[in-house]
Amino acid sequence: MKKILTILLTVATLFLTAQERCGTTAITEKMMSDYPEYAKARAEVNNQTEKWIENHPNHSEKTIITIPVVVHVVWKTNTQNISDAQIQSQIDVLNEDYRRTNVDQINTPSVWQSIAADSEIEFCLATTDPNGNTTTGIDRVQTTHGQFGMDSDIHTASAGGADDWPNDDYLNIWVCNIQNGLLGYASPPSNWIGDGDGLVIGYQYFGRTGTVQSPYNKGRTATHEIGHWLNLDHVWGGWGSCGNDQVSDTPKQESENYSCPAFPLHPNACSTTNANGDMFMNYMDYTNDACMNLFTNGQKTRMLAAINQYRPNMLNHDLCAGTVGVSETLNQKRELIKIVDVLGRTTTNQPTNTPLFYIYNDGSVEKKIIAE
Ligand SMILES: [Zn+2]
Repeated sequence: MKKILTILLTVATLFLTAQERCGTTAITEKMMSDYPEYAKARAEVNNQTEKWIENHPNHSEKTIITIPVVVHVVWKTNTQNISDAQIQSQIDVLNEDYRRTNVDQINTPSVWQSIAADSEIEFCLATTDPNGNTTTGIDRVQTTHGQFGMDSDIHTASAGGADDWPNDDYLNIWVCNIQNGLLGYASPPSNWIGDGDGLVIGYQYFGRTGTVQSPYNKGRTATHEIGHWLNLDHVWGGWGSCGNDQVSDTPKQESENYSCPAFPLHPNACSTTNANGDMFMNYMDYTNDACMNLFTNGQKTRMLAAINQYRPNMLNHDLCAGTVGVSETLNQKRELIKIVDVLGRTTTNQPTNTPLFYIYNDGSVEKKIIAE
């Protein structure tokens, strides 16, 4: 009896050390060993992506893609049953980060401002469910299940989770009491998409109000995990030193970064390929939510390839009637000229709880306040 217990503990420990804050790498590797067809399909993705990018050099025309989202709130305690406002705050963060209207964009170092992307992807809570009925896009399920690990329970109603909505049509996001040490995980795309495609995120890390806990309290876990769902790798390119994330405009970096470093960080650590150091403020690193602020043009192209090749139903649908409403202004390419404070002084600081005015080259002005 004692022997069996020891073996079980060893296995559990190994699994935990492999996770870090994001479980996507661990779950992808496990699925590839469990399902050989999945491993084969994933191996094809990089080739197919390179081909798509080669064949679509003019993806620069402005086209907004709106992704319909269903949020499954799987809760046991009232605290875990997060509010509609908290869910909406996460949708707001996604729209800001993927359209580069995030107020902290001024924190991107100037050397990378020119490659920071408006990814032209938006998100909406679904207004039509799979049966054609009206919905809020929020699916609340009470459970008796304890903490959820990275297995199929969360996306299986009979196991205490919530069944997916068709994952060709919807981005499924499960918010639950996730195992300790893990913020969330996602399923990268391929031609083999099984049950449970989407994101799983802890209720303490979803949105930017309500039950969120610092320093993962600004909704960037979902921004990061959707990056994986759209085929982005971690910016350090895996566990090897100075690895390859398959994106040409993200500098190589030795490994992941935590907390909130100062720029420049580790310049030339990967020879001259990263003279400016690590892009630790990229959404695909591991830094604190408040320190992340960009995707690059190269990452945008890869995400658009993923939608066109593996998630094509997202290109054209009417699952968010009434809320899509992409305005003419948003369709135009506009660039930030400068940011001024209430006295008209140009600023590059980003004080909290202070109104700032963002002035764009199309003459539009937006007033923004970073609330702490
Ligand atoms: Zn990750």
